[in-house]
Amino acid sequence: KNLKKYFGEKSSLFQRNPSVVKAVDGVSFQIQRGETFGLVGESGSGKSTIGKSILRLQSITEGEVLFDGKDLHKLSNTEMRNLRPKIQFIFQDPYSSLNPRIRVGDAIGEALLDHHLCEKHEVREKVREVLEICGLSDYHMDRYPHEFSGGQRQRIGIARAIILQPDFIVADEPVSALDVSIQAQIINLFSKLQRERNITFLFISHDLSVVEHLCSRIGVLYLGTMMELGSREQLYSNPLHPYTKALLSAVPIPNPTLKRERIILKGDIPNPANPPSGCKFHTRCPFATERCKVEVPEFREVESGRFVACHLV
Ligand code: SF4
Ligand code: MG
Repeated sequence: KNLKKYFGEKSSLFQRNPSVVKAVDGVSFQIQRGETFGLVGESGSGKSTIGKSILRLQSITEGEVLFDGKDLHKLSNTEMRNLRPKIQFIFQDPYSSLNPRIRVGDAIGEALLDHHLCEKHEVREKVREVLEICGLSDYHMDRYPHEFSGGQRQRIGIARAIILQPDFIVADEPVSALDVSIQAQIINLFSKLQRERNITFLFISHDLSVVEHLCSRIGVLYLGTMMELGSREQLYSNPLHPYTKALLSAVPIPNPTLKRERIILKGDIPNPANPPSGCKFHTRCPFATERCKVEVPEFREVESGRFVACHLV
């Protein structure tokens, strides 16, 4: 709710630091139990910052993160620790979060012991179970991280997240570092988890074709601001915001007789430390008017469950 995360802010009351980066600038959305919500945007749009802020892996500047009605940023450290197994994070590069000297089976199992979720002699069996769910086997348990391919490492990252039987997982670009053929396998693994376990996901990606397979609702971010939010059907069949239109126009369609008009955006994403006035998208928007340069468009519900921030919609 109204989530803000600013970096580089001076504590002085009298001096405003010009290099404050408003990585997330007042973003609100809800995720329903059991659904997979997609968060999409170019790099620097604030996606990862939102993911980390939600799980309290970093502090926030303002706003609330409500999980089952509790504001996570107001919980004590003990309360947060008790809740940790229920909310998990899957990283883009699981290798960076795996200790190279710890066998994969131990790395997956250690959280169970940390949180006293099972007896020591039960750990191996539980690790075996999740490895199997994730398409790995016994054989992999006593190997070290460097012995695995990128796709296998992501399976390990997923196994480590689900072994705690979480209610909610934030997956931050979990397939972006993988080859396309491997991406498909990991996306299939995510859909299997959706079907077989009642896990709620926040799935972060810069790639609209990836979220289309997995997400029931999607939010589109630009420079720390939500530009459009709606169901997959709404967004893909009838994108309303010019930025969503441009992103979608770059996604290939399998049917060659259907053609989307390609919208090429001018220039690069502006420096987040110095974002454009008015509508932050106006420097790249093909439809921008004078009004867009001065007036911030309100994020409005334009039809049921569909929100857009654009003067033209
Ligand atoms: Fe483009 Fe103006 Fe709409 Fe922003 S408000 S997306 S600049 S038309
Ligand atoms: Mg990121």
